[in-house]
Amino acid sequence: MNTPDLSFPDFAPGSVWLAGAGPGDPALLTLAVYHGLQEADVVVYDALVDQRILELASPDAIWEYAGKRGGRPSADQNDISDKLVDLAQKKKRVLRLKGGDPMVFGRGPQECETLIAAGIPFRILPGITAGIGGLAYAGIPLTSRDTNAAVTFITGHTAGGDIPDDVDWECLSKGSPTLVIYMGSKHLDKIRDRLLESGRSENEPVAMISKATTDQQQTVTTTLKHCTDVMAASEIVTPMIIVIGPTVCYHEAFSWFHP
Ligand code: SAH
Repeated sequence: MNTPDLSFPDFAPGSVWLAGAGPGDPALLTLAVYHGLQEADVVVYDALVDQRILELASPDAIWEYAGKRGGRPSADQNDISDKLVDLAQKKKRVLRLKGGDPMVFGRGPQECETLIAAGIPFRILPGITAGIGGLAYAGIPLTSRDTNAAVTFITGHTAGGDIPDDVDWECLSKGSPTLVIYMGSKHLDKIRDRLLESGRSENEPVAMISKATTDQQQTVTTTLKHCTDVMAASEIVTPMIIVIGPTVCYHEAFSWFHP
């Protein structure tokens, strides 16, 4: 069999590739990110990135942790952006590896702005976001022609620490049949109340998918009315994606991943 020419881009010294590592399972890496890992001089990685993914980097590459959880010291966002600039100015090939997709509910855009201001060339390599890969591994379709023609991705926790106040919860409640909520566990009570106040049925199916695509994946299903009680009783842990909507009903039949 001939090996196809995939024409990977040249990873030039002094540039930064802002890449998504996917939700957990290393098999969900794209070939472009795999290529970036093998070429990089430095990999600046976030907390949710699996160690086995880092091990795909060249043996000479340096790993720099820039995460914000797991009990390790928190890195300030400006420090991370400045570090990327500094490494690029030292003519390193810098792979900035973030969980999921780099441009979904992370600081990817801020890092791009800092790179642009410093005149550093960059490339964005998408990854499979948790709200897509996690649902696939839980056997929950994002859409199905029998249930929904639209999906909304929402963050349940803004930089200010609360649910976003620029989201029109009433419109979402009425207009978006499927809601996929990132960072939603802390304020699930508020989210539930906003949706119920806006007319969403208390019998609406809800799924919580914890550590999706990893060997510790766990999925718990319930209804909007009972979601906070069930979350507490099941002791399900973060990181977690919360899905609200009719496609959650497919979970029982479609569940295929049993780590
Ligand atoms: N850029 C990431 C999201 C960063 S925000 C992406 O595209 O996936 C971090 C949130 O993502 C977590 O709080 C959680 O809601 C979700 N998340 C990330 N990885 C996850 C996983 N393996 N399982 C469940 N949720 C996950």
